[in-house]
Amino acid sequence: MAKIQMKTPLVEMDGDEMTRILWQMIKDELLLPYIDLKTEYYDLGLEHRNETDDQVTADSAHATLKYGVAVKCATITPNAARMDEYHLKKMWKSPNGTIRSILDGTVFRTPILVKGIQPCVRNWEKPITLARHAYGDVYKNAEIRVEGPGRAELVFTAADGTQTRELIHEFTGPGVLQGMHNTDKSIASFARACFGYAVDTRQDLWFATKDTISKKYDHTFKDIFQEIFDREYREKFEELGIEYFYTLIDDAVARVMKAKGGFIWACKNYDGDVMSDMVSSAFGSLAMMTSVLVSPAGVYEYEAAHGTVQRHYYKHLKGEETSTNSVATIFAWTGALRKRGELDGLPELCSFADKLEKATLSTIESGQMTKDLALITTLPKVKTLNSREFIRAIRATLETL
Ligand code: NAP
Ligand code: MG
Repeated sequence: MAKIQMKTPLVEMDGDEMTRILWQMIKDELLLPYIDLKTEYYDLGLEHRNETDDQVTADSAHATLKYGVAVKCATITPNAARMDEYHLKKMWKSPNGTIRSILDGTVFRTPILVKGIQPCVRNWEKPITLARHAYGDVYKNAEIRVEGPGRAELVFTAADGTQTRELIHEFTGPGVLQGMHNTDKSIASFARACFGYAVDTRQDLWFATKDTISKKYDHTFKDIFQEIFDREYREKFEELGIEYFYTLIDDAVARVMKAKGGFIWACKNYDGDVMSDMVSSAFGSLAMMTSVLVSPAGVYEYEAAHGTVQRHYYKHLKGEETSTNSVATIFAWTGALRKRGELDGLPELCSFADKLEKATLSTIESGQMTKDLALITTLPKVKTLNSREFIRAIRATLETL
């Protein structure tokens, strides 16, 4: 059978440890036999990041801006232990952080549903996608531990020197203080990423904050979302029959628990941090989750939501068998290939991506899966496969579709 041809390369960001091993297996077994794969390759493995003084990470992000679609393998974010392990020149920053700051993105994470892995919440029938704003608020705060009585004020000094003051509290004893910020620009780009993603995936968009209590801070988020929706997206939403609605965060939480799923839930930075952990674990597993960074410029970077699975890698190095779940990494590839197909008008590339996803899910549903899923599945007859056997089993299913 002739291989599927591509027009524009994907930006391929290779990574570290066990996921780097899976990356190569996926390419060898599931992609290269079927696609004349065109990629612009960037090695984001820690050794090469170190050799290039991390220039390769920035280069890969700029290539993403140029080509529009990237697929990223999980990468090590160095800490003290990694400094010794890899003899690093410097404790390089998190590649995801670097890429995000260049692409100015919002991260969308969606659980992958499969028969035999049941969500803890019975009425969740479709995935709930979390859209997390990844800038500011408590993640870029300033804090003071107050040791005794005194007056705390919020002071803003404008460029012309004029000051605005707001009393925070007259302390009569010890306590704590916190200051945080966000910018209209960042909130607007978060809003556009959410609306754009809702249009792309034809799903309703929910957004919630605590604007009744936070009448300026959270209210600004609400207002900016509403203005951008009315001005730029309302017509498109009506045309597609999808809805944007804003509600209070407590109301949103209550409704999510009663909902069927099938929508996007946009969250402020902290809410998104907490709620995505809740939603993903309630749906089953981190390895059963897609993750895509969407920039307001319409640029997409697909990745797995989990890390490099270090413990499995050390077993692999010792020659021991591993049973690492490659689903999230496979779906990073299919997401990227499908988007490339859409942008380049290559329906056969899109349908290959659909087929590979279907083959992956059918393989699991037929009872062949990795250990992490075998431990939680409700299916009666289960065959636990090692990392390579699982990928080969997917290939065997793919051949039958
Ligand atoms: P991790 O790689 O996500 O793994 C944590 C544990 O979760 C694993 O030991 C394993 O549990 C389980 N697990 C995760 N993914 C799995 C999969 N695909 N299949 C089966 N089990 C899976 O997190 P970590 O060990 O804390 O971090 C390792 C490295 O990844 C760190 O250097 C960190 O910086 C990096 N990281 C990168 C990203 C990214 O690039 N997006 C994200 C997070 C972390 P068992 O050992 O019990 O089987
Ligand atoms: Mg968290």
